[in-house]
Amino acid sequence: MKVLQVSAEIFPLLKTGGLADVAGALPVALKGAGCEVRVLLPGFAPILADLIVPTVLAELTAPWGERVVLRQGVLGTLGLRAYVIDAPQLYDRPGTPYEDAQRHPHPDNHLRFALLGWVAAKLACALDPGWQPAVLHSHDWHAGLTSAYLAFGPAKGRRVATVYTVHNLAYQGLFAPIHFYDLGLPAAAFAINGLEFHGQLSFMKAGLYYSDHITTVSPTYAKEIQTPAQGCGLDGLLRVRAHDLTGILNAVDETVWNPALDPALTAMFDAEKPAGKALCKAALQQALGLAVQADAPLFGVVSRLTEQKGLHLVLAALDELIARGGQLVLLGTGETELEAAFTARAQAQPQAVAVRIGYDEAYAHRIFAATDVTLVPSRFEPCGLTQMYGLKYGSLPLVHRVGGLIDTVVDCSLEDLADGTANGFVFHEFTQQALARAVRRAFALYARPTEWRSVRQRAMQQPLGWDKAAAQYVALYRQLVTP
Ligand code: ADP
Repeated sequence: MKVLQVSAEIFPLLKTGGLADVAGALPVALKGAGCEVRVLLPGFAPILADLIVPTVLAELTAPWGERVVLRQGVLGTLGLRAYVIDAPQLYDRPGTPYEDAQRHPHPDNHLRFALLGWVAAKLACALDPGWQPAVLHSHDWHAGLTSAYLAFGPAKGRRVATVYTVHNLAYQGLFAPIHFYDLGLPAAAFAINGLEFHGQLSFMKAGLYYSDHITTVSPTYAKEIQTPAQGCGLDGLLRVRAHDLTGILNAVDETVWNPALDPALTAMFDAEKPAGKALCKAALQQALGLAVQADAPLFGVVSRLTEQKGLHLVLAALDELIARGGQLVLLGTGETELEAAFTARAQAQPQAVAVRIGYDEAYAHRIFAATDVTLVPSRFEPCGLTQMYGLKYGSLPLVHRVGGLIDTVVDCSLEDLADGTANGFVFHEFTQQALARAVRRAFALYARPTEWRSVRQRAMQQPLGWDKAAAQYVALYRQLVTP
């Protein structure tokens, strides 16, 4: 089965969060499950630079008159066939893929990402005479217009099945209605039964409305987004589409996240031979100027610093965590206030708190390897990958009971310890007190080293690879392409 994956980011070439990890791992896993996969990406500089033997497939004029070149080739790092939209005037800019260096969204983001969906729809309508996908699988709002363009495009009869995956419903790609006229879609699309959302245009809603099937990244989040509390105003539409909505849990790319083979680590280790983990911890404590104490529980955070991630709860609980003899290491970037608050805590207590503001892939690996506990106190969390990386690296996740965190973490309650299913710590209410209680539970278990080691060993042995999710996606694709 021929599948075209459409996304704005792809690990390891361009990453701002979990979307890139999935966009990099899923195509490879689908290939392993027998699919013929290609990817379509915007031509950000690192992506174009990775394209081996590129050839020009087409020169195109976008609906708003922009001239762009569609290249095809193989992404060298991933060995994946790729189409890349070469439009330096749109994609070759400083900052992140979405924001300028001052963290303001680019004013033409509607065009930059409409182009992604527009080219995807063209590829579904035989733009490449040598390769026609049976399934068009687009990811998040950046690729949300794919199915809308297809719905109104020349191939009205539709030989292609469309799947749209929501990685985070909170980022919707909302734009002023005036921009609708640039997009080249018929007026009928700007309607409540279409991509209009409270007077604005919503790329997210386009994906939800026009795609044959919607998936999201965990079974629990699939239920949550159908409620007013978590539906971000789109819960009504998601309830209407409930029969076409599936939660498929993300997974871990074990070629990238494996402590037994990870070149970023001071020492490698695994569930059977965990000794290297203590070396990683000591090395990180030493490097960061933390007190080098093997028996001080080391808590880690690797995260975007945004309100979603619940890190104000960590700030509030930090005094107690330190008073009990714990330490915190944080790597993150995001909202200025959170950056400043954590930096101030590190300056005040350098022996117990180490903070690095920034983005550093290798350092993230070292944190999971060195820490005893990975903190993920998110207010909402579609899936969350860092708690799974924590599991793989023997850093037990401590999480809020929400979204994909529910689907991956089982609290160390007495009964679940006895059953052998416990793998972390879960708090229910989204309060400082509830988080602090879970932290106390972590300390209590840490004080029983034999039990801690056995929970950690089971956590590290949990199957978390992409094969299960890939099989679920393939089953879904089959259902959709079978008339
Ligand atoms: P989200 O997609 O909401 O950011 P996820 O947990 O799904 O959250 O994925 C986050 C990904 O980004 C993980 O791979 C995590 O290791 C990585 N990450 C987040 N912040 C940083 C950072 N400052 N440096 C390196 N990696 C980071």
